[in-house]
Amino acid sequence: MSNSIGAALSSVHDRIHQAESQAQRPSGAVQLIAVSKTFPADAIRDAWQHGQRAFGENYVQEFTDKLELLKDLPVEWHFIGPIQSNKTRIVAEHAHWVHSVDRSKIAERLSAQRPETMPALNVCLQVNVSGEDSKSGCAPDEVASLARLISGLPRLQLRGLMCIPEPTEDHERLGRQFSLLSSLLQQLNSQGFTLDTLSMGMSSDLDLAVREGATMVRVGTAIFGARHYL
Ligand SMILES: *Cc1c(COP(=O)(O)O)cnc(C)c1O
Repeated sequence: MSNSIGAALSSVHDRIHQAESQAQRPSGAVQLIAVSKTFPADAIRDAWQHGQRAFGENYVQEFTDKLELLKDLPVEWHFIGPIQSNKTRIVAEHAHWVHSVDRSKIAERLSAQRPETMPALNVCLQVNVSGEDSKSGCAPDEVASLARLISGLPRLQLRGLMCIPEPTEDHERLGRQFSLLSSLLQQLNSQGFTLDTLSMGMSSDLDLAVREGATMVRVGTAIFGARHYL
């Protein structure tokens, strides 16, 4: 059990608590999802030993491998990456949450493939808040209709919205994008939804996201270190 992951986790918790208190939000309002993509299963064990229970993965193949390697640990799995429609089954059968639902076909397949013996799959609708062409996520003006569609699917539980803002250090731009997601959630709730989740904020901008109302932050680098892609 390496000390460095434990130390990194506690400093991320400190940042979250500080941001919660600066925003006058209750302590514990924000859940930390540890994003373990590209890191080995042992890094997850290590973080688990330090009390972390919720982990985020982006790639279906890597998720599949880690499920097998970690089947002795009751990890709370969050799938946060783009999903191709022919790869939904393993996610439907094993994830507790999917943050990256951005079109009807994926939502319909996840619902159809969610086993009856499991609770409904918690999902967030991913929104492209920056308007970048290359980004996953539905357009802000599609949110209401997709939210209605997902709410009608029997094996999904729509919990809220998720975004990945533009990669910029410009806090004002980031703040506007987080605040757009937050106001889209409020609009849905004023139309009769009862959504409780805003999944936004990563290693570099979680403080800002918490200030704008994040209830889940997805943090990789600040816990596990820099990623090295093969
Ligand atoms: C990789 C990733 C993260 C974590 O990013 P860091 O900057 O390493 O904290 C969060 N969310 C999504 C969707 C990701 O793909």
